[in-house]
Amino acid sequence: QTMEVPPKRGEDKLRSPICCIMGHVDTGKTKLLDCIRGTNVQEGEAGGITQQIGATYFPAVNIRERTRELKADAKLRVPGLLVIDTPGHESFTNLRSRGSGLCDIAILVVDIMHGLERQTIESLNLLKMRNTEFIVALNKVDRLSGWKTCKNKPIFKAMKQQSKDVQMEFNWRLTQIITQLKEQGLNTELYYKNKEMGETYNIVPTSAISGEGIPDLLLLLVKWTEKTLVEKLMFTNEVQCTVLEVKAIEGQGTTIDVVLVNGVLHEGDQIVVCGTQGPIVTTIRALLTPHPMKELRIKGSYLHHKELKAAQGVKINAQGLDHAVAGTGLYVVGPDDDVEDIKEATMQDMKSVMSRIDKSGTGVCVQASTLGSLEALLEFLKSPVVNIPVSGINIGPVHKSDVRRACAMLERNREYATILAFDVKVTPVARELAKESGVKIFTADIIYHLFDQFQKYMDNFKEEKKREASVEAVFPCRLKIMPDCVFNKDPIVLGVNVLEGTLKTGTPICILSDSGESEFIDIGQITSIQINHKEVGTAKKGQKVAIKILSKKIFGKHFTVANELVSHITRESVGILKAYFQDDMGNEDWKLLEELQRDFKIDQIYF
Ligand code: GDP
Repeated sequence: QTMEVPPKRGEDKLRSPICCIMGHVDTGKTKLLDCIRGTNVQEGEAGGITQQIGATYFPAVNIRERTRELKADAKLRVPGLLVIDTPGHESFTNLRSRGSGLCDIAILVVDIMHGLERQTIESLNLLKMRNTEFIVALNKVDRLSGWKTCKNKPIFKAMKQQSKDVQMEFNWRLTQIITQLKEQGLNTELYYKNKEMGETYNIVPTSAISGEGIPDLLLLLVKWTEKTLVEKLMFTNEVQCTVLEVKAIEGQGTTIDVVLVNGVLHEGDQIVVCGTQGPIVTTIRALLTPHPMKELRIKGSYLHHKELKAAQGVKINAQGLDHAVAGTGLYVVGPDDDVEDIKEATMQDMKSVMSRIDKSGTGVCVQASTLGSLEALLEFLKSPVVNIPVSGINIGPVHKSDVRRACAMLERNREYATILAFDVKVTPVARELAKESGVKIFTADIIYHLFDQFQKYMDNFKEEKKREASVEAVFPCRLKIMPDCVFNKDPIVLGVNVLEGTLKTGTPICILSDSGESEFIDIGQITSIQINHKEVGTAKKGQKVAIKILSKKIFGKHFTVANELVSHITRESVGILKAYFQDDMGNEDWKLLEELQRDFKIDQIYF
């Protein structure tokens, strides 16, 4: 591809940076976005803040106004800032094209009272993976006890107003969080003390309720992107665009909400997007943005445009978008482009995510609303602590065919006959089939909630299996009959000393013989274990107990006090111990089991 001669630097030559908000649930991501927006949006866009499709646009003039107190009202070089409206991992991972991230900078929100939480760490890992710049917003400073509200003040000024106690608590919490971040491999520092911007990430204390620190956050966002990303923010004619949402709109069919990151889109452009059934080639019928006036913002009322310039959030109306995949790149076919090449390019992101499913074909099925959320989910399931194999993936609602695919697991690994459905609907027929066939469907819109549900299910499943298997489980033991303790011969009741292993009611008992054809003679099954006439069920090495044996053999004829009794193990019973009773077996038990396996000539089983 030919490179354009880079245009001269100037305000109109830079596009707006794209910003994503990330962090743990309840840290205040939504509130922070609301606070940055102010009430302007509701009140008819004072200050030029505009609601776009899936994003909010903050023009430079508004940012300048709001950062005046920081004495930074120098001319900003970017036209504004585009903040994605849906916070969280998913929209971050959705903002990409051909594997590279399209989010220029992220705000990672951390609750000052809670420090790093599960999704904070997940977000950090995603940011690292995509090499994305970010600023830490240390939110909810107003919750420090005794905090004096300084509405919308720069944080430095607000901090000066606070009592010594508040400052001390703040410093203590800040230090802890800096340490936690360090443990994640990141150097961070309060932004106005940060001397090594670039190496050390910035922390901005904020309150999304009373607005302290918001000017700092805004200024830092813009200054930072300008300084470090001028190359990336240079406006080009090459379209960079990503599909954030696929939506059915009444009277319009399926439309796609996209973020145009760079370049220009025109009505009539031929475009290619990734679809679940293959690449979709279509023509832009309409380029739509919301009506700027709130009164006119009724359902289905949009402004039509002949062309739109980056960066902005746009709704595209075109034919054949039903199976479009959110979270993938949109490409425009230029006059010199080969459609086939572009078709292949559109499928790249999908392919790279597809390649993550387990090659063994064993594992759970995962379904999500967008490629980004699917990717975030797979990333999470793959992480060492979680480690759940995935055998099938899909995007969009769970249909009957998805359940059928999960059914395949019923015979292989019943526990994996499950669908983890993230932020998608399950059709009634699919639910019906799942119920009939025994496929479990878990739904949630927070990744780790989904995982927690699945984990609980797996634990229950193991417990149940263990209960089922306990009938067939044979714990290894070696018993010595005590000569003075032959209490009864029919039924046989004997006093024994547990020489090794664990004795349990139900254990089949035999004696090993060193002569004759077979290596062992079956005696019978232990039906009762008593200590001092009390039923115990289990006896450990060293204990002396009375056992009752359900037996067709005669004591004194088929065996005597001279014979040692051992558990009669089989290949199956050993397998069951290894599969379900790892926690109930000690080192010595395993050693004894191995010895018995040799005696019974059972091959070692490796799992
Ligand atoms: P999200 O899940 O990260 O989007 O969190 P929300 O924005 O929904 O906020 C979660 C809760 O925390 C809500 O009850 C907010 O009112 C509250 N909250 C958010 N930011 C602040 C803050 O700066 N100070 C205080 N005191 N509460 C906050």
